[in-house]
Amino acid sequence: MINDIFYSLQGEGFLVGTPALFIRFQGCNLRCVWCDEKNALDFDKTAKPYDVAIREIEKLLSLYNPNLIVLTGGEPLLNEDFIHIFSYLKSLNKTIQIETNATVLKEDIYNTIISYPHTYITLSPKYISNYVIDQKFLAFNKNIELKIVVDEHLNESVLEREYIKHFVDKNLLILQPLWEEGRVKFLDKAIALAEKFGGRVIPQVHKLLGLK
Ligand code: SF4
Repeated sequence: MINDIFYSLQGEGFLVGTPALFIRFQGCNLRCVWCDEKNALDFDKTAKPYDVAIREIEKLLSLYNPNLIVLTGGEPLLNEDFIHIFSYLKSLNKTIQIETNATVLKEDIYNTIISYPHTYITLSPKYISNYVIDQKFLAFNKNIELKIVVDEHLNESVLEREYIKHFVDKNLLILQPLWEEGRVKFLDKAIALAEKFGGRVIPQVHKLLGLK
């Protein structure tokens, strides 16, 4: 089930500024207090089924031709339509970025995404799940980044955990200061953490630009 499909710029992470087609999956297993996509959280059976979504994707791709397709949510990797949509997108031979809260990577989905050479994964573990990352993500050794929201909860001990250091030591850490009430918050904290751990501070640029 798909919540939304739209064309915009990627506003987050290392691919910031890249024109992209976004496919927002419906349903998430977490409930982050500052989630900015609250209408995508329920596993709502009235959202778009995948065949309708694919027709919309085709229509948008006849108008725009971005090299990047972003699968976001909600939590895309828990969506029953994920493999159908991913299998269709693979035929386009574009980069497919998956933005995930990293809590669950099922075996069949792992096999599907690791076998496609243009998969790009954005792990975004959350405070509400104690920043857990499914260990299967450690098998991806290229085209992966670790994006952590800097809010009142994030502290140094999280960035010192072994499985987080796995990414930090490879310079794959992005510290994203929280966007709340129309502005960037915790910027000083993000900069201090980047100085200490070596990550990059990248705010949500699409919000600064007033884009979707
Ligand atoms: S994991 Fe993402 S989509 Fe799910 S509640 Fe948190 S911010 Fe929202």
